[in-house]
Amino acid sequence: MNVIYPLAVPKGRRLCCEVCEAPAERVCAACTVTYYCGVVHQKADWDSIHEKICQLLIPLRTCMPFYNSEEERQHGLQQLQQRQKYLIEFCYTVAQKYLFEGKHEDAVPAALHSLRFRVTLYGLSSVELVPAYLLLAEASLGLGRIVQAEEYLFQAQWAVLKSTDCSNATHSLLHRNLGLLYIAKKNYEEARYHLANDIYFASCAFGTEDIRTSGGYFHLANIFYDLKKLDLADTLYTKVSEIWHAYLNNHYQVLSQAHTQQMDLLGKLFENDTGLDEAQEAEAIRILTSILNIRESTSDKAPQKTIFVLKILVMLYYLMMNSSKAQEYGMRALSLAKEQQLDVHEQSTIQELLNLISTEDHPIT
Ligand SMILES: [Zn+2]
Ligand SMILES: [Zn+2]
Repeated sequence: MNVIYPLAVPKGRRLCCEVCEAPAERVCAACTVTYYCGVVHQKADWDSIHEKICQLLIPLRTCMPFYNSEEERQHGLQQLQQRQKYLIEFCYTVAQKYLFEGKHEDAVPAALHSLRFRVTLYGLSSVELVPAYLLLAEASLGLGRIVQAEEYLFQAQWAVLKSTDCSNATHSLLHRNLGLLYIAKKNYEEARYHLANDIYFASCAFGTEDIRTSGGYFHLANIFYDLKKLDLADTLYTKVSEIWHAYLNNHYQVLSQAHTQQMDLLGKLFENDTGLDEAQEAEAIRILTSILNIRESTSDKAPQKTIFVLKILVMLYYLMMNSSKAQEYGMRALSLAKEQQLDVHEQSTIQELLNLISTEDHPIT
């Protein structure tokens, strides 16, 4: 963290804390354009997002330079908007990743930034604010602040209601978060209604078998699981697993074929890729490991289901270039298959998977 200097506030200007908007007492020494009420909020912001965007904020927060022509001015304005758009998406992804990792406290400053840049660019009543409100609602839920979560969701709902061109993707996200709110309030009836809507809108936007639709199925499955409706939960967990399997297997096949063909030509490995952003990778890990935990509790009755999820995790970590994790899950699958005396074919496919990983020299992350 950078050295911080006490802030000399210029006369007549009231500067606000980046996190809580209280009067500022300190300034970030690295960018000198970001203010804080005290060390606590400065550190929270630094750890969440500021370290990553500190230097990017300088051109946004210093005065526009003097332009010689209207053309130059327009160009400058366009650049500024592009920077803002980049930061909106960047802060959004960072906050989303924290949420999937369960780091709700860290998600808040990043989500607030995404919201503020949206307000600057689109105005206070735009439907573009909705994704940021939803992040803040989800973080609040994670922190047990249900009233605050409801406020953010109310803002989001209001913006969606007023909008004439709200996308299906945004409708889906809104319903997903309302679903999570009602799960937190143990109102499963309402939660199911919203998750069904989430799945409907996500299916319209992306298709029924898309990874972006799978989150709705997953939360719905969790409700049935909590209600001890295990058959329904089981069917939905299987669906979620199959969606992720299809997605990752597709990438995996493309990669392993390309790999064997191009290995000799290039003489070295090229980067693996899941095709997912960091937040989606974190979501995949969260969904698949929690399904794995549930599957493992019934491993003795249905070992294939556990092995199926383990194999998906192998592919995920393989594609994320984390070969030690991939190997770990692969070994677990293999020993379970042997222990349960599954057929030879099953064992050999896992072995093949393991061979492929171990012959490669991935950096262990
Ligand atoms: Zn503050
Ligand atoms: Zn800074």
